[in-house]
Amino acid sequence: MQDRQAIIGIDIGTTSTKSVAFDTGGIVLGSFAVEYPLLQDQPGWAEQDPDVIVAAVVESVRGALERSELHDKDIAGVGISSAMHSLIAVDEGGRPLTRSITWADGRSEMETRRIRDQLGGLEVYRRTGTPIHPMSPLPKLLWLREHRPEVWGNAAKFVSIKEYLLHQLFGEWVVDHSIASATGLLALDTLDWDEQALEIAGIGKDRLSALQSGTYRLQGMSANYAERMGLLPNTPFFLGSSDGALANLGVGAIDAGEMAVTIGTSAAVRMMTEQPLTDAQHRTFCYNVVDSTYIIGGATNNGGIVLQWMRESLFAGQKTVQELLDAAERVSPGAEGLLFLPFLTGERAPIYNSEARGTFFGASLNHRQEHFVRAGLEGVMLAILSVAETLKDLAGPAREVRASGGFAKSPLWLQMLANMLGQEILVPRVTEASALGAAVLAMQGLGTIQDWREVKQWTPIVKRIEPNAQSVEIYRELFSIYGKLSSQLPEHFAAMAKFQRMH
Ligand code: ADP
Repeated sequence: MQDRQAIIGIDIGTTSTKSVAFDTGGIVLGSFAVEYPLLQDQPGWAEQDPDVIVAAVVESVRGALERSELHDKDIAGVGISSAMHSLIAVDEGGRPLTRSITWADGRSEMETRRIRDQLGGLEVYRRTGTPIHPMSPLPKLLWLREHRPEVWGNAAKFVSIKEYLLHQLFGEWVVDHSIASATGLLALDTLDWDEQALEIAGIGKDRLSALQSGTYRLQGMSANYAERMGLLPNTPFFLGSSDGALANLGVGAIDAGEMAVTIGTSAAVRMMTEQPLTDAQHRTFCYNVVDSTYIIGGATNNGGIVLQWMRESLFAGQKTVQELLDAAERVSPGAEGLLFLPFLTGERAPIYNSEARGTFFGASLNHRQEHFVRAGLEGVMLAILSVAETLKDLAGPAREVRASGGFAKSPLWLQMLANMLGQEILVPRVTEASALGAAVLAMQGLGTIQDWREVKQWTPIVKRIEPNAQSVEIYRELFSIYGKLSSQLPEHFAAMAKFQRMH
């Protein structure tokens, strides 16, 4: 084919990197994913080899070109999305001194506590928007300083996986405001590094990359990488943003007050705002998206994984997901008095308790398997509602809710979400949300669109679900019981965690 113009969105995720070629109307022409492992050498650690990820990016771009039958000259530009919170120490020559320490790495638990309790962490959170949590680079830097003095001494810079990649390709140390805002080191209102956070980390700005907007252009790629990817060396790259922020763009939740609920294995609720908003109780995150747009939100650990767990444990894998959903549908809202707190893998927002565990409450002789499934599904929605409520406290009610992720395949689950939130749910047509978001920022950088908000036209609504007034009432009551139970259990979760460690 001749004279086709395409934009590639690269989505660097935790388990794989996917490159997606889009035409200038946001339609997917082809995509290619390359997986890589999460290295867990020690309990609680979760690292990746940065060079393996760079190789995956190269292979995925080449694969996307082949799948879409595009040539190097067809590619007008490339935008990048990447997972937040990764940290790599590099030497003067840009070589890694550590692996990429990911968001899932929990080694800096002690440092996190120290920052929170002794070093004014909550004040830092209010300015940076990044919860004081082991996921964030801030406590990881303290860990490196104390546990790896030789790395600390030799490290010229501390960077994320996206910065590492771009330095390999272009020889430039540069970071977008969104990825920078997820380090715990960036002040959201000035979009500059935060003095107090840097002081806690014990580094100066010289050990961090230059800050730029997500539409910043890099050009003049090393010939070697260009050839391996199958691109022309002068193909422009654009910094892009973080996967969480771009996921909102890619589902069309882009204006203030528009909320995206994404439920895959885990789940997240995010709302766009026009100014930074943080929570006095430290329950939510706030990150930059691009320019003066922000997202506030919370991630929960327990989304579709709850359904997977029920299928494998309660039903020994004997039933399909659809059979479980059908069984749950035969039970009325509230599962006849059975309630589930879905904290199978501990919980992040809004309770941030790694010792929390799944809890069925109210079981009686009349409850059958299908009641447990229904309560399990409702439990996930209760957890989603508890995050949505904290966002409402901060930014007011959501004007619009857009749902996506594996759960959106289920009409039952979507209806439950509408009933739980008490408002209409919109299901947009979504194909590779974060990659699309990255491609859209590249399009703005290229000038093929004026404003990234034009992405909305490429995420048309394919389904609308209205809440059922009666169920909304029932869930309101159930949520009140859920809230009381969750607030009373931490002491008992701790006792159970201790019991488990001892026996
Ligand atoms: P990931 O987070 O791994 O990208 P997905 O967005 O693909 O995940 O969602 C996977 C989850 O979706 C699974 O945990 C599963 O419980 C749930 N799921 C899969 N099929 C269905 C279905 N038909 N209806 C509702 N949920 C489903």
